Amino acid sequence: MRIRPEIAALPAYKQGRQAGADAFKLSSNENPFDPLPGVVQAVQAAHGFNRYPDATAARLRARLAERFGTTDDHVHVAAGSVSILFQLAQATSGAGDEILFSWRSFEAYPSLATVAGSTAVTVPNDADGRHDLDAMADAVTDRTRMIIVCTPNNPTGPVVTQAGFDAFLARVPADVLIVLDEAYAEFVTDPDAVDGARVLAAGHPNVVVLRTFSKAYGLAGLRVGYAVGDPRVLAAARSTGIPLSVTAAAEEAALASLDAEDELRERVAELAVRRDELAARLRETGWDVPEAQGNFVWLPAGDRALEVAEAFEAAGLIVRPFAGDGVRISIGEAESLGHIVRVAASVAPR
Ligand code: PMP
Repeated sequence: MRIRPEIAALPAYKQGRQAGADAFKLSSNENPFDPLPGVVQAVQAAHGFNRYPDATAARLRARLAERFGTTDDHVHVAAGSVSILFQLAQATSGAGDEILFSWRSFEAYPSLATVAGSTAVTVPNDADGRHDLDAMADAVTDRTRMIIVCTPNNPTGPVVTQAGFDAFLARVPADVLIVLDEAYAEFVTDPDAVDGARVLAAGHPNVVVLRTFSKAYGLAGLRVGYAVGDPRVLAAARSTGIPLSVTAAAEEAALASLDAEDELRERVAELAVRRDELAARLRETGWDVPEAQGNFVWLPAGDRALEVAEAFEAAGLIVRPFAGDGVRISIGEAESLGHIVRVAASVAPR
């Protein structure tokens, strides 16, 4: 059998390591809280699982449209926001086309460019782990079809500011799709951060905002994410997707989570407090932790990344190393914080 050589060369998606019963799993930016009882009950009480789900997740789309002050055709739901990233790449970019993003960022970006048959073009983050939006605008060519802006940036943590994004938008041709990947938006506390909802309200049809129920809403295992933006772009994305991949259970859980928003927001606020406390304590140990606005912190360990991650693992803390670059630690259980600081201090840069 012939496999496309660029697909054969793709690395397998690297998942955060699973943790044993006595370890803290801080490697996949998951929510440490269980789904709320009301969410579990809604899934249990749902009936009709012998039937296929509604292909367009119409009820969930309607609810999300209401929240964004828009109409249903401006919302697309899929099995995780990562699915939508792949769909948008396929819908916009083919052979010879370029997909531009800052690096380091979410590991799926290089793969989705390759799967679409297009070319990934990367611009390095600055020394503080931030997108360099000026350099990104400079890197746009007449082959650029899609730009991904990740804010807060996974894995380094900082946000793009509203002012920075507005200036960037003004420099990018209106026929280039800009995907604002806001997987961690709910954790943001920086008042200067860009807000996708506000960008859309200002009327920018080349911007699609991506959000997910995996992080703040704690439904990573059910796979449901969404995009808000121009109906024509989202219809094209939908056409590339595998039909019927949002399960009925996922749609019920997402709807019930929106009903329980206040309680979930309290948990998110609690995680943001833990994050700020952890980042501050890590800085005291000598680590130059960049602005952390998601549910994770970044240790710029450089060449020591693997060694530093091993020290954490030996202490029962499963974290995510990026070889040659750094270590990402997700915000999890409150009891893990002290252990993280202790290990970080023992391997702090001198
Ligand atoms: N975007 C970013 C920046 C992420 O970090 C992730 C998850 N790691 C995703 C998208 C995908 O999330 P999901 O598919 O679970 O919605």
